[in-house]
Amino acid sequence: MKSEVLFEANAEADIVVIGFGGAGAATAIAAHDMGAKVIILEKAPKGLEGGNTRVSGQGYLNVDGVEDAVDYLNALAGSEELPQNHVRAWVMECSQNNDWMRSIGATPEEHHHQPVGIEFPELKGSQCVRKFHHGPRTGYSHTWDFLAGAVAERSIEVLYDARASKLIQEGMSREILGVQASCAGQPITVRARKAVVLACGGFENNQSMIRDYLPGVSACYPSGTPYNEGDGVHMALAVGADLWHMKNFAGPSMALKVNEYQSTFSMTALHFSHEQRGGMIVVGPDGRRFTDEKYKTLHGKVRRSGEWHTLALPTAMYMVFDHALFSDGPIYDKEPRMNWSRVVDRYQWSDDNVAELDKGWIKKGDSIENLAEVLGLDPQALKRTCDEWNVICANGRDDHFGRTRMLNPIERGPFYAVPLVASLLNTQGGPRRNARAQVVAPDGEPIPRLYSAGELGSIFGYLYQGAGNIGECLATGRIAARNAVSEPVID
Ligand SMILES: Cc1cc2nc3c(=O)[nH]c(=O)nc-3n(C[C@H](O)[C@H](O)[C@H](O)COP(=O)(O)OP(=O)(O)OC[C@H]3O[C@@H](n4cnc5c(N)ncnc54)[C@H](O)[C@@H]3O)c2cc1C
Repeated sequence: MKSEVLFEANAEADIVVIGFGGAGAATAIAAHDMGAKVIILEKAPKGLEGGNTRVSGQGYLNVDGVEDAVDYLNALAGSEELPQNHVRAWVMECSQNNDWMRSIGATPEEHHHQPVGIEFPELKGSQCVRKFHHGPRTGYSHTWDFLAGAVAERSIEVLYDARASKLIQEGMSREILGVQASCAGQPITVRARKAVVLACGGFENNQSMIRDYLPGVSACYPSGTPYNEGDGVHMALAVGADLWHMKNFAGPSMALKVNEYQSTFSMTALHFSHEQRGGMIVVGPDGRRFTDEKYKTLHGKVRRSGEWHTLALPTAMYMVFDHALFSDGPIYDKEPRMNWSRVVDRYQWSDDNVAELDKGWIKKGDSIENLAEVLGLDPQALKRTCDEWNVICANGRDDHFGRTRMLNPIERGPFYAVPLVASLLNTQGGPRRNARAQVVAPDGEPIPRLYSAGELGSIFGYLYQGAGNIGECLATGRIAARNAVSEPVID
């Protein structure tokens, strides 16, 4: 096949993979092991690669029972009719994740044993859910470290600080021939002899896309990598791709966001299973509570009117608490198990919360009314809410929102507050792909030589099953690699 587009390339490979997270790693390893020369372009500087995969809980799905898994995936899609050849290909590949991981040297361990790990047990086929990770325990980047190590021990070139910005497309055939990028600030062009695979994650750190696409939040900040800014969506749109599942995301939750860091900080007191000393509530800009602060959403989904919806959060939120909680140890969980702030930024929160009080991350008032003034809230409204909360605690029953954990009154000052934002794990939307992991145009026709893998254009458009994203990274990475490697070389 002869390319009609001539361009000077700084580098070339059979397969050019954009993004070095789980999907990029799986694609690169699989393509390399099939004999292809692979280059990965990674936007983050060396040391900050790995994307959401690196800071995730590390669990991946290995579905058990193909027919059950087909039923479950269809049920999770709700009213959407997914293409059944795509569902079947996804499920078949996900059922082989452990075999593949073992074949490249991993030791899969099962966690969240049933029924714990099943997110929607009421849905048909849900018994297919089996969740695994590499290494001694979940979290702590174990699965990621294994994948990164497998890339490092192969002759796969990784260009760091290399942000892909544009796909090079031949005008008539619409074939994708390579990528334009900036590498350490210099423009470069990378030629793909066979195909380009987009594995560059979602738009978790792009506020304008979040405003346009995500329901229930007007702003939302990543708990994962700050480098996923929707570049894959923009590159795919520019070459004629269709989009799907743009409104679906894993979130929101409530977390602290400070100017010094791009990713959010999780507050221990807000964790659904965590009990600690002291009183704590969350209020909106009207000084009123709006939810059970300790509710365990299903990756952001809550049941309303007999259906699952995205939890809606006010833009401004404040975690209000008393001195008993303030003096009960760090209010931030600094264990480097997951989240970018804990695993990569490694911010060392003080043991007595005083450094963060001094920085202004925690606000303080001698009385509830004084705290409200500091926050710019109506003092009487906040006082009323705290008084109501104390009555709820005395009665041991939250008739407003049904909260059952940490029913501790907010009684003794000084009083404190942490301003909160909506936070997310990851977005699911992106270019629509087919059963062969080809990116397709609105007419359903594949854009020649363009593939995608991972959360960028995930199959999850409505409900999400935990461990499904990394399961999908491994599965779609291998599907994309197989089909991309079988493309004829462009002369
Ligand atoms: C805290 C947390 C916990 C989670 N826990 C789990 C879990 O246990 N199980 C599960 O299945 N899912 C989990 N998820 C979701 C899951 O981690 C992600 O959906 C999945 O890892 C996405 O993998 P990916 O390879 O598609 O993208 P990523 O891992 O995010 O990798 C994308 C890479 O592309 C790079 N990139 C972006 N733009 C460009 C560009 N223009 N050019 C070059 N490179 C670019 C980024 O820097 C990044 O390195 C969790 C997410 C978070 C944040």
